[in-house]
Amino acid sequence: MQKNIEDFVIHPDIHWVSVGNERLQIRQPNGDNITFDNYANEIKNVLERLKNPLSKTEVVDEDIMDQVLEILFSKGFLSNKNVNEFQFLRIADLNQNDRIKYKEKRLPKSVFIEGNGNLVKVVKESLINSKIKINENDNPNALKIVVADQDSYSLLSAENEKSVIKNQSVVFFRWISGKFRIGPFVVPGETACLECAYQRELASNLFADEMKAYMACDEKELPKYEGGPVLDNLAAALITREIMLILRGDYEIAGTSTIVTLDPLLLEIKHSSILRVPRCKVCSKGAQKPSRNYRNLVQESNN
Ligand SMILES: [Zn+2]
Repeated sequence: MQKNIEDFVIHPDIHWVSVGNERLQIRQPNGDNITFDNYANEIKNVLERLKNPLSKTEVVDEDIMDQVLEILFSKGFLSNKNVNEFQFLRIADLNQNDRIKYKEKRLPKSVFIEGNGNLVKVVKESLINSKIKINENDNPNALKIVVADQDSYSLLSAENEKSVIKNQSVVFFRWISGKFRIGPFVVPGETACLECAYQRELASNLFADEMKAYMACDEKELPKYEGGPVLDNLAAALITREIMLILRGDYEIAGTSTIVTLDPLLLEIKHSSILRVPRCKVCSKGAQKPSRNYRNLVQESNN
């Protein structure tokens, strides 16, 4: 297919370096670089023209141009539309996993925020700034975000159950013992749910009785999120990243069946995978039929 250089813009987050006149390397954030051993100058002219379409100083070789455009296009380095205003989304565009998309018709377009407290205010403000559509009426097609200032088992598990029954995708975000915890992102009928996570943790915990006592704690006794500098910004970044990825269909990067815990002091991040509990009292009641198995979809895309 013939491509016209004037119709494209080059991704602003990639760049190129030359080694003498012989070699040219195109570099991108994920480290998947392309090195050319021939025609380095001619290729450079094409790249410069793409970067500054108005400059006509470089003499562009037509044959080289066609081939370079093909390569750039296949790598997703060229865009024939306006580039995204948010750099994070542009970097996500370059990720190889970008091709593993969740293409389900039920991909949410907006979010509904459940909860109240300090963290909810932070989340709402950040999502509005990120131009994410907030649904006020808990439309079941909207992605539900359950936000809690405390690790309240009763509140979180009730929301988990409600979402599974309604067949609504949900993600949990909360403050727990001086850390942020995000996840799991639950797609009912397809992924593990929050109850699966609790059951797995109970089964593997050496102090199961203590954990049960903790889960039964009165909310008033649990430490609460107050926020302030550092914490509010980290919280906003964490949840906004997660929601942007989910709304794009980047479920593989957003991480279904995963819980991420971030220690804001040490900047340590722990990823815990959760397997679905076959007899989970919430998500394996048989009411939800998976409309399409997510794991199979990932496998198909990998082939
Ligand atoms: Zn479950």
